[in-house]
Amino acid sequence: MLLGAMLLLASCGSRAAVDPSPACPPGVGRGIWEPGPPKGDDAKPGTTEARELLENPDFGATPQAAGDLERGVVDGRLVAALGVLTEEHRLCVQTFKKGHYFLPGVPDGPRIPKGYGKAGGLPNPHYFGRAADVWWVNGEPVEGNPTNPDVLRLGELLAGIPLKRRPDQIIGPPRWARALGYGRRRGWVLAPDQLELHRDHIHIGYMDEQGTHNTR
Ligand SMILES: [Zn+2]
Repeated sequence: MLLGAMLLLASCGSRAAVDPSPACPPGVGRGIWEPGPPKGDDAKPGTTEARELLENPDFGATPQAAGDLERGVVDGRLVAALGVLTEEHRLCVQTFKKGHYFLPGVPDGPRIPKGYGKAGGLPNPHYFGRAADVWWVNGEPVEGNPTNPDVLRLGELLAGIPLKRRPDQIIGPPRWARALGYGRRRGWVLAPDQLELHRDHIHIGYMDEQGTHNTR
C-alpha cells in the first residue's frame, strides 16, 4: 500500500524524479523533494563508493545529504561504515554537512558553537564531512524507539566494525546508549549533555581527519 503510493508519486513526476528512496519515510527521500541530480557527467559522485551507497536501495538520504555524497564531500570511512550498516538495515541519513545546524539559524562552522553543551569549541565533524545523522532505521524514527531491536542492532553493527575504521564519535539517545553499554574506548560518547541532545537521532562521526581514537 505504502510502496504503491510511493511508486505512484514517483511515476507522476518527471523521469528524473523516479527515485523514491525507499529507505526514507515518504516525503523525506530525495526523489520526492527534488528532481535528483542532473544526468550526464555532472551527475557523477565524488567516488565510486559514494555512488554505490547512493544506488543502494537500503540507503536513503534527504536531498541535502544525497547532494553531499554526489559532491564527494563525505569522508570515505563514513561512506564505508554506512555501507556496512546497510547490510542488515535500511537507513535514512538526514544530514552530513549541508543543512547541519547546532543552533537554530546559526550556520555551522569549523568549530562547534559554545551554546552546544560542553562540546562547544571542539572541531565540528559535520563541517568537514566526517559525520552523519541517522534519523530513521528500517522505516522507524530513532526518536521514541531507542531500544527497538533494529535500532539497538545498528549499535552492535557499529561496534563490530574494526577499531581503525569504526567511527569514534558515536552518540545516540540516552536509553540506546545505556542498553548497549559500550564505552568511550569503543567510540561511544556518553556525556549526559550529549545524550540529551541526541534523543531523536544517532550521530556517527570521526573526530580526526585520519585514524580513530578507538582502542578496543
Ligand atoms: Zn550529528
